[in-house]
Amino acid sequence: MQRCPCCNARLRAESVCPRCGADLSRALSCEQLAKLWLSVSLQTLTAGQPDVAVAAIERSLSFKQTPAARLFRDFLVQHQYRALYEYLAQKQWQDARRTIAGLHVLQGDDEALSRFLALIEHLSAKPA
Ligand SMILES: [Zn+2]
Repeated sequence: MQRCPCCNARLRAESVCPRCGADLSRALSCEQLAKLWLSVSLQTLTAGQPDVAVAAIERSLSFKQTPAARLFRDFLVQHQYRALYEYLAQKQWQDARRTIAGLHVLQGDDEALSRFLALIEHLSAKPA
């Protein structure tokens, strides 16, 4: 945080605004938690754990909607869609369902995702 959200005074390291006296400790701790969870999200995606990365980026955004975290969430959406297409092509239905669950977390209710689920149910059903 570089400026006080109350009076726009320039801030140094202090957690109390030198101009208006606002206590910024809670806001600063949210900012740090947002950074921490963004970093967890980056690391877990790199480590091949996209489900954890999805949960971590949502947690980061719940503390603060930073441009970096929003950008990474958009990247994760694209990343998860690519994974979904790959799982569908390889008929890995369980992985496809798990990926759709992650996309639901990132995007909320989404018509396209519901249609993907219906498609998977149809394709994965054993012929009678
Ligand atoms: Zn202030």
